[in-house]
Amino acid sequence: MSTTQTNKIEIIKASTSKIKDVDFDNLHFGDVFTDHLFECDFKNGEWQKPIIKPYAPFLMDPSSKVFHYGQAIFEGMKAYKDDNNDIWLFRPDENFKRFNNSATRMAMPEVPEEIFMEGLKQLLQLDEAWVQKGNGSSMYIRPFMIATGAGVMANPSDEYKFMILLSPAKAYYSGEVKVLIAEHFSRAANGGIGAAKAAGNYAAQFYPTNLANKEGFQQVIWTDDATHTKLEEAGTMNVFFRINNTLLTAPTSERILDGITRKSLIEMAKSEGINVDVRPVLVSELVEAAKNGSLKEIFGAGTAAVVSVIKGFSYQDVYYEMTPIENSYASQLKEKLTNLQNKISEDAFGWTVKV
Ligand code: PMP
Repeated sequence: MSTTQTNKIEIIKASTSKIKDVDFDNLHFGDVFTDHLFECDFKNGEWQKPIIKPYAPFLMDPSSKVFHYGQAIFEGMKAYKDDNNDIWLFRPDENFKRFNNSATRMAMPEVPEEIFMEGLKQLLQLDEAWVQKGNGSSMYIRPFMIATGAGVMANPSDEYKFMILLSPAKAYYSGEVKVLIAEHFSRAANGGIGAAKAAGNYAAQFYPTNLANKEGFQQVIWTDDATHTKLEEAGTMNVFFRINNTLLTAPTSERILDGITRKSLIEMAKSEGINVDVRPVLVSELVEAAKNGSLKEIFGAGTAAVVSVIKGFSYQDVYYEMTPIENSYASQLKEKLTNLQNKISEDAFGWTVKV
């Protein structure tokens, strides 16, 4: 291992690389990590010296608050390599802002922009051989923060660890997605933490999603907790509905994650001349539109899959199958967005940032 000092981040390089063992054509999402990780600890009321070091397990006190009270947040973002071997991030400022909004909601310290962005860029530069070229290939980036302070008193930790992991990814094909519309379970409530990327939001979804899986549905479409009449999110994605030629999606709220793919698709669809209506979407109007044939498409939107087509949905034990459609908005928008992200087409929106 060699130690160097670059722009205030200490870098300890791995003595050997694991890259030769990786089958980049057969990656399972989120299973493989690069040679290094970024780490910065918060102690005595301030952020300590950041470090990039070999990816490895680490020791923690068993009473650390993250284990008992779930004080933990994360982000999910991607980097792409173009034909000139330049690496590009997609709207990283949005992930940074959302990360710190999540931190505030979970009574955790905000991470300074320099630590987040410089950590990210220098880690990507060091592990750049792991960022594969070509449409469909990307580097999934997982920044996260956990409460490392010891003690089981139920109050906020005074120590935290911020880390960034890199996981190479192939085009994510979610397969045929059938969804169950939630009639009892909720993922979020007003005044709760639905708009934060807090770890517990995801753990809370596992049980209802397992039940849906047993009935043959891959995901749950979450409805509002108070009345279960409004359609809010699909699994860990925002959700769009096309009724006739209008694209509908719910407004973000305290219950809905302000997805970066969602807001990008809304802007992109509008620039393509597609009529977009951001307003609460009712379960009853979805069922009605499915019955009268005006429901043309349903798709989820998120960083991992970009756009995930939903094949059918079940509500009150009735299954509604979608009719495949030509010139779908889902495929049109997915292609436009992935071409922009991969630098295959011009970025008219100024969303891509060079590493
Ligand atoms: N909703 C939830 C609950 C999510 O976890 C995600 C993934 N971050 C999204 C929506 C999509 O957000 P983004 O487009 O920023 O990935």
